[in-house]
Amino acid sequence: AFEGLTERLQKTFNNLRRKGKVTEADLRDTMREIRLALLEADVNFQVVKKFVKTVRDQAVGTDILDGLNPAQQIVKLVNDELVKTMGSTDAPLNKSDKIPTIIMMAGLQGAGKTTTTGKLALKLKNEQHARPLLVAADVYRPAAVDQLVQVGERIDVPVYQEGTDANPVDIVRRGLAQAAENKNDYVFIDTAGRLQIDEKLMQELSDIKSLAHPDEILLVVDAMTGQNAVNTAEGFNNQLDITGVVLTKLDGDTRGGAALSIRAVTGKPIKFVGQGEKMEDLDVFHPDRMASRILGMGDMLTLIEKTQRDFDQKQAEEMNQKIRENTFDFNDFVDQLNQVQNMGPMEDIMKMIPGMANNPALQNVNMDPKDMEHMKAVVYSMTPQEREDPDILNPSRRRRIAAGAGRPVVEVNRMIKQFNQMKKMMNQVSKGNFNGLDGMLGK
Ligand code: GDP
Ligand code: MG
Repeated sequence: AFEGLTERLQKTFNNLRRKGKVTEADLRDTMREIRLALLEADVNFQVVKKFVKTVRDQAVGTDILDGLNPAQQIVKLVNDELVKTMGSTDAPLNKSDKIPTIIMMAGLQGAGKTTTTGKLALKLKNEQHARPLLVAADVYRPAAVDQLVQVGERIDVPVYQEGTDANPVDIVRRGLAQAAENKNDYVFIDTAGRLQIDEKLMQELSDIKSLAHPDEILLVVDAMTGQNAVNTAEGFNNQLDITGVVLTKLDGDTRGGAALSIRAVTGKPIKFVGQGEKMEDLDVFHPDRMASRILGMGDMLTLIEKTQRDFDQKQAEEMNQKIRENTFDFNDFVDQLNQVQNMGPMEDIMKMIPGMANNPALQNVNMDPKDMEHMKAVVYSMTPQEREDPDILNPSRRRRIAAGAGRPVVEVNRMIKQFNQMKKMMNQVSKGNFNGLDGMLGK
């Protein structure tokens, strides 16, 4: 999903970064490009309009163009507004004080209600040792009941069903009675869908709602249907006052419009996203991570923010200049290590760099405080000349340094390699070249 949008936004930002100074005309061009990119990704027109206006007003209002690194700051404004548009914070599943928590699934035919019912039940089972019951309330197609029964078997969760002869409301009533008897802590009601919203469907869903008083009415919508998904969500919300949305088929070739529009149009949060046909393919929806994904930069922005917050501003600027000029050396490396030691657990920081979490080349950047001390010891065993000019570190120098620091030569070699990788990476990032960074990390 999102490839087209990501590509267009990145192109726009790369153009912007290439300019030394960003003029008002550049800002206007950029905002026009963003507007077109969002419209092409099938984002709701009103949402796009508001989005572009907000970002532009902020860029102008905060004098970004005159400040430090305007291109980067505009990317950040866009990112922040993406996050806001998608709801800012994660929206957890509602949970009742007393069992069972009742979750009613609603949505058009084929949206993924039955599949998502299974996925979510499995998730609760795995994460909370929950004991859910699935109720088969889609009686219009015999296959629908069978499908839920099969899903139940796959995840080893019981299904309450009465075939297709009974009335859905009665099935739900008896299903709830069964759940009470068996002390199930969650009940999922898998309802019927239609190809389009109609009176009869809405009446049936309203009746089920009145009877069951669900803690959660999850509307399941197919992300591939773009604007239609948004219209559907609006329609269902008006009639049923849903509590949340599950966006399915985000693994498919969707342009992203639904993810960006639904919250803004309905005021209801996206709680989960379906990203595959397997029962495991359901994820909590994180607006911030989704924004990073749309911008194609991992959690890079979190990292930039954290760095900005925690590093001494002036020192950071000096460091940035060195990185840009590629004169970063082992003396700076030690300074960095000292700063980083004040910043918090290194794993947290490393994980935020795109591709870092599962990149084999960097797996051994094991930033134990002890390791940092060892690294410092190695640097301190270098001559001033070696620190300033790491290229001269031939094997015999490395052996001498290892002996001086009391560390194995392989460790010294590894550290020099890591230093060179880090230097190259920082240089890429300082040029705003996230693509190059991904390339380097073997993505
Ligand atoms: P329902 O009519 O709303 O109950 O929809 P179903 O649960 O029967 O799903 C319809 C089809 O969409 C099935 O073939 C599912 O396997 C498929 N499906 C559901 N969710 C996803 C998803 O997140 N990704 C993919 N690729 N397929 C999905
Ligand atoms: Mg179904």
